[in-house]
Amino acid sequence: MGMYDVIVIGGGPAGLMAAASAGMHGARVLLLDKGDKLGRKLAISGGGRCNVTNNKDIDELIRNIPGNGRFLYSVFAEFDNRDLARFFEDMGVRLKEEDNGRMFPVSDSAKSVVNALVRNVRAAGTEIRTHTPVERVIYENGRVWGVQVRGGEKIRARAVVVATGGKSVPHTGSTGDGYVWAEEAGHTITELFPTEVPLTSKEPFIRNRSLQGLSLRDVTLTVLHPVKSKKLVTHRGDALFTHFGLSGPAALRCSQFVVKALRQTGAPDVPVVIDFFPDESANALEEKWWSHARNHPKRTLRNTLKELLPDRLVETVLGKAGVDGDTTGSRLSREGLRSIVKEVKQFTVRISGTLPLEKAFVTGGGVHVKEIDPRTMQSKRMPGLFFCGEVIDVHGYTGGYNITAASCTGYVAGKHAALLSKAP
Ligand SMILES: Cc1cc2nc3c(=O)[nH]c(=O)nc-3n(C[C@H](O)[C@H](O)[C@H](O)COP(=O)(O)OP(=O)(O)OC[C@H]3O[C@@H](n4cnc5c(N)ncnc54)[C@H](O)[C@@H]3O)c2cc1C
Repeated sequence: MGMYDVIVIGGGPAGLMAAASAGMHGARVLLLDKGDKLGRKLAISGGGRCNVTNNKDIDELIRNIPGNGRFLYSVFAEFDNRDLARFFEDMGVRLKEEDNGRMFPVSDSAKSVVNALVRNVRAAGTEIRTHTPVERVIYENGRVWGVQVRGGEKIRARAVVVATGGKSVPHTGSTGDGYVWAEEAGHTITELFPTEVPLTSKEPFIRNRSLQGLSLRDVTLTVLHPVKSKKLVTHRGDALFTHFGLSGPAALRCSQFVVKALRQTGAPDVPVVIDFFPDESANALEEKWWSHARNHPKRTLRNTLKELLPDRLVETVLGKAGVDGDTTGSRLSREGLRSIVKEVKQFTVRISGTLPLEKAFVTGGGVHVKEIDPRTMQSKRMPGLFFCGEVIDVHGYTGGYNITAASCTGYVAGKHAALLSKAP
């Protein structure tokens, strides 16, 4: 078998890009994955359509990567989302842009993306071994020696790229193996946590499932500090009541703030406030609904609200506001209306946690970014060791940002691993 220039561990977007890039830069590459197939998470990403990247400019891209996005400035200077889009097009994967800059394959098929990437890696002459779990990375005399795979076989390489992903959705192969090897090389692993993950709640209206399945279009969700009640973050978008709490894009975006607030304060829950009418002030809404009630003196508040809110929400809002739904327009008090308006502008859901890390779209935390050279992705602790993808303490919102971060760090890691392996 001999010696390789570069061994890449993990065939997700980060590892596939690293292998392709190392091959393109003249290295003899071996790509190892423990699964039966490469790109298993990629194949289920974006609801099976694979939101491969996002077309926003770099500053906006980085703003959407709240977990250490700024670490990626030098990576993006070398290979960014536009380069990635071109890379896909050159492989024959035509892309289209949807809302918020999200880029998808025209085929709407994540599998077509995986197949093209694998074909491309093979075409560069890379040897691929699936069903081959790496057990450890071998370090000798203060640098990388190679890897040991299941069964004890040791394989030598001048550079090893760790692209093992995070710890979410472990049946796709991402079981967090890379963290251990990083620690053995002297790296710090920042605390892991689930992010881009649905929120759970013990509120009665969640427990009794009265709102289950209700989807909300274009609302805002604000996470409040559980002790100081100050605003931690607001996200606007769609959301969904589920049988356990809240999901949908806006809830996923809020999730990391919920997780951090719960961990930092030890509070039992965190208030998340929904504004069903983010474009209208409470005063404007009150005036509008007041004249509406006055113009329909005989109509009950319940029936009026049914015209203004999703049906399913009406009883919960009335109950929370403590106002009788049978009150007619002529009898409605300003005070009663104000309580209703408060509920639709500040509908509070006490969030007690999230689904577990295994069910999260993304793993927060990972290999400390300060210990990786941002220009090359080489370890600052162990020469010849490189990291890319979700194993690093970098995480983005949903919207194509995570695959972009994984692929671009993969490209840079692969290139510099190849260059290192060729250096005299
Ligand atoms: C359901 C779902 C949908 C998503 N949709 C999107 C989306 O549309 N857009 C987006 O940007 N992001 C999306 N994400 C996030 C994105 O998929 C991940 O951030 C990305 O796949 C991370 O890439 P990676 O290469 O670092 O790791 P992974 O894709 O997790 O790949 C890691 C690979 O390493 C292999 N491996 C692990 N340990 C070993 C070992 N010991 N030996 C050998 N091989 C090993 C695994 O088998 C696996 O193939 C989604 C995530 C999920 C769960």
